[in-house]
Amino acid sequence: MAEIAIIRCEKNLEKCPLKSCLKSLVNKKEAFSQYSHVSPAGVFVCRCPGDNVVELARKLKSKGAEVIHFTTCTFATKTSNGWCAEEGGFCERIDDIMRSVHKKADIPCVKGTAHLPQGYVPVVLG
Ligand code: SF4
Repeated sequence: MAEIAIIRCEKNLEKCPLKSCLKSLVNKKEAFSQYSHVSPAGVFVCRCPGDNVVELARKLKSKGAEVIHFTTCTFATKTSNGWCAEEGGFCERIDDIMRSVHKKADIPCVKGTAHLPQGYVPVVLG
C-alpha cells in the first residue's frame, strides 16, 4: 500500500478542483500507474515562491505520506493537442522545488499526476 500525497500550485487553486488528479490516484492511472495499492495521504498547496513546500512535505510525511506527487500543471500546459510539457506549466522552479523537498524532507517525489503529456515518463526522485 502506497500512501500518496499531492502538492499542487496556488496559481491553479480556484480553476481546478483536482478532479483528474484524484481520479488518476484512486484508479492508479497516469503517474500513479506504478502502484499496486494506493491510499490518499493528503493535498497541500505550494505558494510562490515555494518557500513553504519543504515544511508542507514534512507535515505530509508525519501524517503517513510515503511519496509526494507534484501536479502536472506545474510543468505542462493544456493545448489544443493535449497537455504539453514543452511550453512549461505554472512553475519555472518545479525541478528545484522537487529536489529541495526530496533532500530536505527526505521523501520520494514524483513529477506528475494526471493527464501526462504524450511520451512523458514521470521523473522520480528517491
Ligand atoms: S513556486 Fe511554483 S508551484 Fe509554487 S505556487 Fe509558485 S508557481 Fe506554483
